[in-house]
Amino acid sequence: MINTYDQLIIGSGFAGLCAAIKLKEQGENNFVILERNDWLGGTWYDNHYPGAACDVESHLYSFSFEPNPNWSRQFSPQQEILKYMEHCAEKYDLYKHLQYNTTVTQATFDEAKGIWNVSAEGGQNFSARSIITCSGGLSQPMFPDIKGIDSFKGTMFHSAKWEKKFDAKGKTVAVIGTGASAIQIVPTIAPDVKQLYLFQRTPPWIMPKPDAEISSLRRWLYNNLPFTQALYRRRLYWQHELMALGFIKRPGILKFASKLSLRFLKQSVPDEKLREKLTPSYVMGCKRVLISNDYYPALTRNNVEVITDGIQQINETGVLTKDGVQRNIDTIIIATGFQAAEEVSRFAVNGRNGMDLNEAWREGAEAYLGTTVSGFPNMFLVVGPNTGLGHSSMILMIEAQVNLIMESLKALKQKQAKFIDLKRDVQQEYNRDIQEKLSHTVWQNGGCVSWYQMKNGKNVTLWPGFTFTFMKRTKKFEEEKYEIVN
Ligand code: NAP
Repeated sequence: MINTYDQLIIGSGFAGLCAAIKLKEQGENNFVILERNDWLGGTWYDNHYPGAACDVESHLYSFSFEPNPNWSRQFSPQQEILKYMEHCAEKYDLYKHLQYNTTVTQATFDEAKGIWNVSAEGGQNFSARSIITCSGGLSQPMFPDIKGIDSFKGTMFHSAKWEKKFDAKGKTVAVIGTGASAIQIVPTIAPDVKQLYLFQRTPPWIMPKPDAEISSLRRWLYNNLPFTQALYRRRLYWQHELMALGFIKRPGILKFASKLSLRFLKQSVPDEKLREKLTPSYVMGCKRVLISNDYYPALTRNNVEVITDGIQQINETGVLTKDGVQRNIDTIIIATGFQAAEEVSRFAVNGRNGMDLNEAWREGAEAYLGTTVSGFPNMFLVVGPNTGLGHSSMILMIEAQVNLIMESLKALKQKQAKFIDLKRDVQQEYNRDIQEKLSHTVWQNGGCVSWYQMKNGKNVTLWPGFTFTFMKRTKKFEEEKYEIVN
């Protein structure tokens, strides 16, 4: 049996929920949201490790059209974010559109009919005029290619696949990686474990986190005088946009911030040797700048050791480093991030003439405004190539992309078109410009290797500009840039 819809959304994170809400606002109700997990939330469902919280303020990291006056903290924890998403699903009546435990494996465009045929694990089949891919930029855990990793006999799991039954108490634990996930996990479990070995390859730049509970008075204000919350969101918005200046145009700002970060390190870590290990050697901003108040103090604990000697191999009982030291370990937590820049499509996608998406993207994922790809008509991506941010809330980009998708769907309907397909030269010219802009940024010139880039150095993940520029460009459907087939 084939389940037929007008639109099919893949993924129920912020992107999928936003697309669904806006479809409904447009009077579209014949759609389904396919979700691989057994609940909604995407990354905020997957990443429930201890200490998981957002590193962008909640009043900005939430939908502009659905303000939450009751955020408990400046940077809310994962459970509260997931609750907010559940509230959105309830309020906008999305639950009836959600189909869980459905992992899409293949999407194929039928050019003669102008429809997408979609298959999922277990043999379910769907068809839809349009597909909206919201499967997340950081949803595929990346396991490190370390010799012997499969021979480890203890417990081992990825930060995004946290074992709910895991109890850190009294264990000897290794954490591999020192990115955004690890710096939240380490301080949370350090007081419980017997011994924590932190395997660091590159020290991150860390700034203090301006976190605090939001007072009941402020919450009262936001509930009773909503304009105060809107004003606060605006302030946060511009504060973050200023940071983009440093990444893109004014590296001087980063020099100043680097000094603050080094001062913070000095205040937090009195031991000179440890401080040396934790001092970054690349330009701030090249990798994501992290914020934490408890990470550095956790590293000064007697039961925490930062190891920088490099991992030789993992064996049955633990980790052997290049200096020949073996450390026996009960549990290894893999905090090595996600597959972001290579093999970007999470499932097989075949567009016009059977063209394979990952094959088309072999030299680097490309789209127009991160949303449409030439040769893949009526397919829309949210958080597609070069839409990531180093400086602000991804929800801003998601809303902008969803706006463009809604405008495109309106045009498709008005013109009674079978499909719309981005012109190839539009995509090429746009991406030449994106890469040219990126070539002047700290992400390309900061002397680091990051998940922002492919192995060949091409940055296919970040938007090299302000969010307001992206919002302006995604305001309306540009008819002349598409082939419209009736
Ligand atoms: P990540 O930032 O990519 O960090 C991965 C860490 O693992 C890095 O320290 C990396 O070292 C290390 N690593 C990778 N391969 C390794 C290997 N073979 N051997 C040893 N170490 C290795 O991953 P993440 O911490 O999961 O964060 C990914 C992104 O998710 C973040 O940048 C952020 O956008 C998002 N995130 C957000 C939040 C939030 O608060 N909102 C929280 C968590 C994650 P190198 O630096 O040397 O490569």
